[in-house]
Amino acid sequence: MGKVAVAFAAAAVLVSCSVAAVMVGRRIKSRAKWRAVVEILKELEEACDTPVGRLRQVVDAMAVEMHAGLASEGGSKLKMLLTFVHHLPNGTEKGTYYALHLGGTYFRILRVHLGGERSYLDVQDVERHPIPSHLMDSTSEVLFNFLAFSMERFIEKEGKESNSQGVKRELAFTFSFPVKHSSISSGVLIKWTKGFEISEMVGKDVAECLQGAMNRRGLDIHVAALVNDTVGALSLGYYHDPDTIVAVVFGTGSNACYLERTDAIIKSQGLLTTSGSMVVNMEWGNFWSSHLPRTSYDIDLDAESSNPNDMGFEKMIAGLYLGDIVRRVIRHMSQVSDIFGPTSSMLSEPYVLRTNSVSAMHEDDTPELQQVARILKDLGVSDVPLKVRKLVVKICDVVTRRAGRLAAAGIAGILKKIGRDGSGGITSGRSRSEMRMQKRTVVAVEGGLYMNYTMFREYMEEALVEILGEEVSQYVVVKAMEDGSSIGSALLVASLQS
Ligand code: ADP
Ligand code: MG
Repeated sequence: MGKVAVAFAAAAVLVSCSVAAVMVGRRIKSRAKWRAVVEILKELEEACDTPVGRLRQVVDAMAVEMHAGLASEGGSKLKMLLTFVHHLPNGTEKGTYYALHLGGTYFRILRVHLGGERSYLDVQDVERHPIPSHLMDSTSEVLFNFLAFSMERFIEKEGKESNSQGVKRELAFTFSFPVKHSSISSGVLIKWTKGFEISEMVGKDVAECLQGAMNRRGLDIHVAALVNDTVGALSLGYYHDPDTIVAVVFGTGSNACYLERTDAIIKSQGLLTTSGSMVVNMEWGNFWSSHLPRTSYDIDLDAESSNPNDMGFEKMIAGLYLGDIVRRVIRHMSQVSDIFGPTSSMLSEPYVLRTNSVSAMHEDDTPELQQVARILKDLGVSDVPLKVRKLVVKICDVVTRRAGRLAAAGIAGILKKIGRDGSGGITSGRSRSEMRMQKRTVVAVEGGLYMNYTMFREYMEEALVEILGEEVSQYVVVKAMEDGSSIGSALLVASLQS
């Protein structure tokens, strides 16, 4: 070999050595970045951990707070609001009734026709539309004019054969925000939740606002009841099955109500003499306990929300928020590592990742996780390798598992408060005949999160069995109520007429 050739070969060895060194260096660096991301995931998993022992602490805290909220006004973060609903529909109702439902994301209008027998419930013309976002921070007048206008259009579309032509229409206003009732058909808004921000509305009578808007449009409609969405769901549940005494909504927000003995509503003794029970709207979204597994993402989400220091439980379990928790974790990872490529500015946009997309990613069953790739691309994150897509699925799983399991703890807390959780009841020493004494309890559940996100539902139901145990769980039936809030509210109005 000549001198030149030797020099050339030596240079080639040197180059390949340094290329290898660079590659090894890169690999070490990229491994370090991957390790950093895995560390963030591990921290998230630990912070979101919900072993059954911790869930039981949440159950106990929920029951304690329920007692405190019933004992005195302001006694707990749980408002435990009176609804003035003493009787629920029993199946004998007759006639045609309407419901207009303002949720957190959608408004719905429907009509029900009842034939006086439980089996004769005809739900007609269910309309569901997204609430135009500009209404959420407009004025009460603009909001209610819009609702009255929508109602007018609904009625215009009714066929001539409709039973209610020419007679005053009886309407339930299903309103999914906290209200202090003075009767079943009147109550003032306590505060907005779920991103609504019309401050002059707070303190105003909600039913009166809607009735006023209807009257201004010359509509012959009577706002016969103001109904919380959970109370609507309970009404539909009870109509079909009188063992239904608890209802929970998991939609944009989350809330629960249940049938309480009036003598247990200590803060209102004297007021309530006519009936043995009343439905209590818990407003459980505002529940808080130090046992709730809170992460730095929850703290930031709360601080940057339109209602900081408020609705802490809702912000961990409801549809409006799960997507935003996941977004915050992905953003954090993309800031400490380039496994997501350069940090997309879209990842800093609040609520850009919807919970619908979280469930689509979580339940992506394509071999290459194409749904995950598509949704990440919409967030400005393109061409990430499969292992990164798998990591995103894992984040969705951790956040939703925590939500489902905490939701179950909330339900078990209600069951505990009303003595249907088997505690102090079914224990090892009890006989078979005593076991049969355990009452069947039906929990009506509705809302878009529960109805459409299978993994949320499964985590919730699995945790409920874990908390209650196999035996007691046999007596607790969770029933899905599609459109239960709206249909049930119309049934409630029907029951007021009979
Ligand atoms: P509202 O809260 O307006 O009464 P819904 O009960 O239908 O309306 O709940 C809508 C919310 O449910 C959505 O904003 C979303 O958070 C959640 N949701 C709906 N569909 C899905 C889905 N496929 N996966 C996950 N969450 C969903
Ligand atoms: Mg709803």
